[in-house]
Amino acid sequence: MEVSKRMNRPRITIFDTTLRDGEQSPGCSMNVQEKVRLAQQLDRLGVDVIEAGFPIASDGDFEAVQKIASSIRRPVIAGLARACKPDIDRAWQALQGAAHPRIHVFLATSDIHLKYKLRITRERCLEQAREAVGYAKSLCADIQFSPEDATRTDVPFLCQVVEAVIAAGATTANIPDTVGYSTPEEYAQLIRTLRETVAGIENVTISTHCHNDLGLAVANSLAGVLGGARQVECTINGIGERAGNASLEEAVMAMRVRPDRYPYETGIAAGQLYPSSQMLAEITQVPVQPNKAIIGRNAFAHEAGIHQDGVLKNPLTYEIMTPQSVGVPDSRLVLGKHSGRHALGLRCEQLGHKFERRELDEVYRRFVVLADRIKRVQDSHLLELIHDMTHGITPAPGRKSPAAASVSASVPHAASAAAGRDGYPAPLPAGPFRGGSAGEHHDQEDYLWGV
Ligand SMILES: [Zn+2]
Repeated sequence: MEVSKRMNRPRITIFDTTLRDGEQSPGCSMNVQEKVRLAQQLDRLGVDVIEAGFPIASDGDFEAVQKIASSIRRPVIAGLARACKPDIDRAWQALQGAAHPRIHVFLATSDIHLKYKLRITRERCLEQAREAVGYAKSLCADIQFSPEDATRTDVPFLCQVVEAVIAAGATTANIPDTVGYSTPEEYAQLIRTLRETVAGIENVTISTHCHNDLGLAVANSLAGVLGGARQVECTINGIGERAGNASLEEAVMAMRVRPDRYPYETGIAAGQLYPSSQMLAEITQVPVQPNKAIIGRNAFAHEAGIHQDGVLKNPLTYEIMTPQSVGVPDSRLVLGKHSGRHALGLRCEQLGHKFERRELDEVYRRFVVLADRIKRVQDSHLLELIHDMTHGITPAPGRKSPAAASVSASVPHAASAAAGRDGYPAPLPAGPFRGGSAGEHHDQEDYLWGV
């Protein structure tokens, strides 16, 4: 693809809400430290906006937003607030250290929410939205407004609310399909209607926020983009309330693999998609479904003989993108007990864990013990091992060979293992390679940890 062609494509803002909407879903809660770690990975992934939390919801949420805001400088950091002063104040307080803060104000606009949840009239809703955005704007330049349950809101009323919040200072108008009810054609039409009827809409960014209750979240988001939206809200692995949100990796790769249909650019470093997915699964301990598009275990697995044959001859026969393009490690690289520390460190990095020398030593010690027991160490095993290590859990005893047991017990013993015994590599002979100065590490030394 020529650079000039790519340069002309509209840029889509990727707004990640894994830490807010995603974290709200059952089983996906994270502590402050885990949120900061994931936010650092989202930064590496290249998302434009990180919705770090809902500061008034809990002290933990507040602290997470505060820590992320003060430590991650490139992306916009957003904090969620209901359309009332205490929420907005709390969000603004949490965002104080941010280089690029955004307050995200929301208020439901559908009749069913107004009548049964908020018990207010449309007139009151309109007034409250206008006041809340005006107040938030007095604190922060970057204001996003979301009319919750927008897709079930009376369209003329929705247009009225969006127009009012733009006049009050909103810079992004997010149109949530809160209950995952819309369809691609309908959602695209809604975005087009807003563009055609709302005064001032050309000065703000229209955003999508689609839930996956009918499995249409990504399709709806992309339809919204075709309709004129320029921000997509999404999450890693598609986590989120109920059936989840639009999956970031799917939305981004649809644009990348099909620029003929979706001629848009994002700032996403696609090679970080798989590491991000793996890190989230490891932190939450919520596994990714094997057939999940883009980053699932089977997404690039070819079982049938005819497929394998075709892929070996030319990957394009059955693959529309390469595993490497989304950061999936080369599956032909099998980790076993003969793998060196370098290969192990590389695989850990591909899985989202970069270790210091001494930490990697510990990972390697545990890895060797495990590899001796199970022969082929899969990514899931490695992640489990890393999880146990970082949580201070000692490895399960299991069945070990005496040699492996000595490795786990005390490393220096390993060096005294007899040459070639039990099928282990012989220790390196003394010679020029072993005579390096203290603290110098040769690749060969890796093997000493394994014998
Ligand atoms: Zn949502």
